[in-house]
Amino acid sequence: MTDALHPETLAIRTGTVRSQFMEHSEAMFLTSSFVFGSAAEAAARFSGAEPGPIYARFTNPTVSMFEARLAALEGAQRCVAFSSGMAAILATVMGLMKAGEHVVASRSIFGSTVQLFGSVLARFGIETSFVSPTDPAEWRAAAKPNTRLFFLESPSNPLTEVSDIRALADIAHQAGAWLAVDNCFCTPILQRPLELGADIVIHSATKYLDGQGRVLGGAVLGSHELMEGVYTFLRTAGPTLSAFNAWVLLKGLETLGLRMQAHTRHALALAQWLESQAGVTRVLYPGLPSHPQHALAMRQQAGGGGIVAFEVAGGQAAAWRVIDATRLMSITANLGDVKTTITHPASTTHSRMTPEQRAAAGIGDGLIRIAVGLEYPDDLKADLAQALGQARGEG
Ligand SMILES: *Cc1c(COP(=O)(O)O)cnc(C)c1O
Repeated sequence: MTDALHPETLAIRTGTVRSQFMEHSEAMFLTSSFVFGSAAEAAARFSGAEPGPIYARFTNPTVSMFEARLAALEGAQRCVAFSSGMAAILATVMGLMKAGEHVVASRSIFGSTVQLFGSVLARFGIETSFVSPTDPAEWRAAAKPNTRLFFLESPSNPLTEVSDIRALADIAHQAGAWLAVDNCFCTPILQRPLELGADIVIHSATKYLDGQGRVLGGAVLGSHELMEGVYTFLRTAGPTLSAFNAWVLLKGLETLGLRMQAHTRHALALAQWLESQAGVTRVLYPGLPSHPQHALAMRQQAGGGGIVAFEVAGGQAAAWRVIDATRLMSITANLGDVKTTITHPASTTHSRMTPEQRAAAGIGDGLIRIAVGLEYPDDLKADLAQALGQARGEG
């Protein structure tokens, strides 16, 4: 039945399981454990012969509703929710890989993900090769007989580089590996990696899925077979999504379609306007024809998304002047909020890289990233116009 429904409808109408009270809004089950009608029922629950909740580390009805709804949106057989996006990424590796195996990962991924693969997992005998997000030949060359996982984010942060998910899925499968896509920036409203051949989708639900900067959460999605390993890690290790956070995220999903369309509209308008501003030397947004992977982005995404990066002349001093002069934008590295956020990647999210690494990656000192929120777009333009003017010394 759900196959014929559009994402906006799935986000509102799937996953709901009502209690005996027939509540309209999904119930929040704030309980650590569940009681059984008899010893025999307890035994049947524990053996898996009878479905139903046992203990909230691995079974909670509110969390299950969130999982079912997100699974419908991504077109996945199963979703396993986690306490954060990083917990979801860790669980993917812990659930599916073992020491002695190898990962090929995009160089342009979230900073903590780089640390997780490059430092933490390396100590446990899982080695990672980092390659270009936009050059499939590098992925093919980096694959080894023990490679089990390809990992990428598209579009990337902060440069909005777009990876060819279908091409990289084919290369992964030829190498005997799975492709996992962190779909945080697009959400299933703008991009469904499983339909493009990926095996696993990962979310930091903290960002657009919540959409209002309230809670942390994460999720891993894929086939029943792959998710069994991921779920087993959750059950035994316990990086569990709380019922409260799951309830907030369920409500967040109900407006995800509207929000992503508005984020995209506002970001495109701002990016187009920025291209003609004095002192702005480069604008990076997948929805602009000037973006290096514009054609690919428009093939695999239903819109450019909400993240815009741009460079100002004058390096870090000029970038900081622009950021400090804005009045409507929050100076924070977070993204995916109704409130517009502005950040200077070189001195915050990417400050752990050496200047040489940043230069090689294309993250200049004048680069500014904006996660465009849902304020009225002309108000954001006016705010940036006065900020750019002040930075040029006109204020
Ligand atoms: C924020 C983020 C994460 C980590 O998610 P948390 O919920 O903060 O743990 C992972 N990937 C991307 C792309 C992110 O933006």
